[in-house]
Amino acid sequence: MSDYYSVLGVSKGSSQDEVKKAYRKQALKFHPDKNPGDKEAEKKFKEISEAYGVLSDEQKRGMYDQYGPDAFKAGMGAGPGAGGFSSMEEALHTFMNAFGGGGGGGGESIFDSFFGFDSNPNSSSMRQGVSKKMNLTISFEEAIKGAEKEATITNYADCSSCNGSGAANPNAIKTCSHCGGAGQIHQSRGFFSMSTICPTCHGRGQTITEPCTTCHGRGREKKRQNIQIKIPPGVDSGMRLRMGGYGDSGEGGGPPGDLYVYINVRPHQLFERQGDDIIIELPISFSEAALGAKKEMPTPKGGNARINIPEGTQNGKVFRVRGKGAPNVHGGGEGDLLVQVVVETPVGLSDKQKNILKQFGKLEGDHNSPRKRTFFDKVKGLFS
Ligand SMILES: [Zn+2]
Ligand SMILES: [Zn+2]
Repeated sequence: MSDYYSVLGVSKGSSQDEVKKAYRKQALKFHPDKNPGDKEAEKKFKEISEAYGVLSDEQKRGMYDQYGPDAFKAGMGAGPGAGGFSSMEEALHTFMNAFGGGGGGGGESIFDSFFGFDSNPNSSSMRQGVSKKMNLTISFEEAIKGAEKEATITNYADCSSCNGSGAANPNAIKTCSHCGGAGQIHQSRGFFSMSTICPTCHGRGQTITEPCTTCHGRGREKKRQNIQIKIPPGVDSGMRLRMGGYGDSGEGGGPPGDLYVYINVRPHQLFERQGDDIIIELPISFSEAALGAKKEMPTPKGGNARINIPEGTQNGKVFRVRGKGAPNVHGGGEGDLLVQVVVETPVGLSDKQKNILKQFGKLEGDHNSPRKRTFFDKVKGLFS
């Protein structure tokens, strides 16, 4: 007989909490319902339950620490059979107690997740199909105007030979003899009665005597499918389109999964998205900035927009052209086109141009460059 402490994987000085935690973890792993017909797991389950039964009881634990396992060979645990308490019935009792029993709250959620219960016993094998993900890269124009794109997806769908039944023919579908078609088995264990999914039919209530040769009884097969993806106007990078029902088909009558299309928009050479607004940089010359100009530029949806650059426009100034941005993807109107002016310092000047600028420079006064003046006023202020 191995040492109770090492069976649970705890140290001799471990607290009751640690003992309980260690037991719960192992008990869920080796529980017979999780390992049907596995003799090794059964033995292990009895062993850890026995160890827990002793170590979780301070009095028994004290005796064990003093005399070792022999302390219990004679009296303790008193099962009707051989000494110790290694019957499965007692091991299951220990299990129930460690999880707080069925009755009140607390223990239930553990049981639900452990046995895979569904609140509706008839739907235990009903499962939604797996949802899928795909990435889709589109052009800037497609994102603004909307588009329809074709894609090929591969999903599990109902087998076309057996219509998803998994049987070679309708006569090969029989009511499960193990559970009588209920899909569930009711068992009484000590004080508790509980239902588990029928291991023979896995909750379907039916068994198949002759499986479909196309899908080997699975009822599903992989199918390639061409689909049209409708892209609404106004989508942007990082948005996700949900195409309901385009995932794997469900199992046991469950609903199909969905397809999630993740949008990636290729950058544009002129336009940049900022929410529903679109930014365009408009380079203008130094003299245009100083004297003012009328400018025309393309808009993302096609057509041109016109703006008036007033005289004395500074570099970086943004002009807003209402309603010429991206449409709101949720139908909330249109964003604006934001025209950001970039004033270009002239380069490659001829002698004649330089002479004119030199003359201009001589005529320049403080009032022509208000920011420059403000700057030097602040600098002076630093030293006075
Ligand atoms: Zn069954
Ligand atoms: Zn089939």
